Amino acid sequence: MSKKKAGEGKHRKEISVDKFRVRPGRRLPLEGHGTDIPKLYRDEDEAVKLLRRQVQRTSQLQDILYADDRYSLLLIFQAMDAAGKDGAIKHVMSGVNPQGCQVSSFKQPSTEELDHDFLWRTTLRLPERGRIGIFNRSYYEEVLVVRVHPEYLTAQRLPDGDSGSAKFWDRRLRSIRDHEAHLHRNGTQVVKFFLHVSKEVQRQRFLDRIDDPEKNWKFNRGDVEERAHWDEYMRAYEHALSATSTAHSPWYVIPADDKKNARLLVSQAINETLEALELRYPGLNRARLGELKEARRLLGK
Ligand code: ATP
Ligand code: MG
Repeated sequence: MSKKKAGEGKHRKEISVDKFRVRPGRRLPLEGHGTDIPKLYRDEDEAVKLLRRQVQRTSQLQDILYADDRYSLLLIFQAMDAAGKDGAIKHVMSGVNPQGCQVSSFKQPSTEELDHDFLWRTTLRLPERGRIGIFNRSYYEEVLVVRVHPEYLTAQRLPDGDSGSAKFWDRRLRSIRDHEAHLHRNGTQVVKFFLHVSKEVQRQRFLDRIDDPEKNWKFNRGDVEERAHWDEYMRAYEHALSATSTAHSPWYVIPADDKKNARLLVSQAINETLEALELRYPGLNRARLGELKEARRLLGK
């Protein structure tokens, strides 16, 4: 019999995601948050197995979330282009009952959307009780891309005289904080992920999209031009994450240079959030138990 490799057969430590959570009230320098961490898996096979196990757990928890019918879970994904939002969403939700979750993507707002306040369009897509809602981009774009390009505010025709000032952005961030506090009080648990990729890895992924015919369709010239604003985006993210990471609606800065690591971390955070809700299948009262007994009798057993 061959000797066991080091570590084989031992119980592996659970993936720890807590250190990537942004502490409330702490001003972030994003430079302090790495985009790359040591691999959480030994090889490709193990990455697949670990994620599969975690997703199975998400699926079980989602079933109880649905039966429990008190809470909903809202997962928000924000990132620079090519950070892996789409892939992360696809992988961490694969295997979860499609009836229990809904993905919404938010792009440049339409005329109708611009005719409403900036929380309107996402509010229409909030998950029902018992469900998981996933926002691929969100109202956070209003303090990210719009902050980097304040000229977008013109199309919003706001009454404020100080649109674009520091005070204006602080008020917008306060609106988001208040909105999320309101959602929390009403049973929606909000968890936010910033997939943090380095500028160099983004460059390589864009080159891949140019070189690989199957990825050509993903290439967007505008994304490359947007790289010129990288530092402004990082500052906008710092402001937004610092102002809106709270005990009830935390942000996680997920190192995203390695997609498999990122997916494992996101999936772990989702499971921890659902577990903390202490979900339960509803118990049966005496009348309901009686009904079940009667039904069994009618079914002849
Ligand atoms: P992918 O490129 O992977 O398909 P994506 O999320 O980048 O996905 P795109 O259609 O490429 O989708 O880009 C959407 C664009 O819409 C982003 O550049 C984003 O910043 C922009 N956007 C989203 N919300 C707003 C907003 N409220 N105001 C202005 N621009 C917005
Ligand atoms: Mg894009």
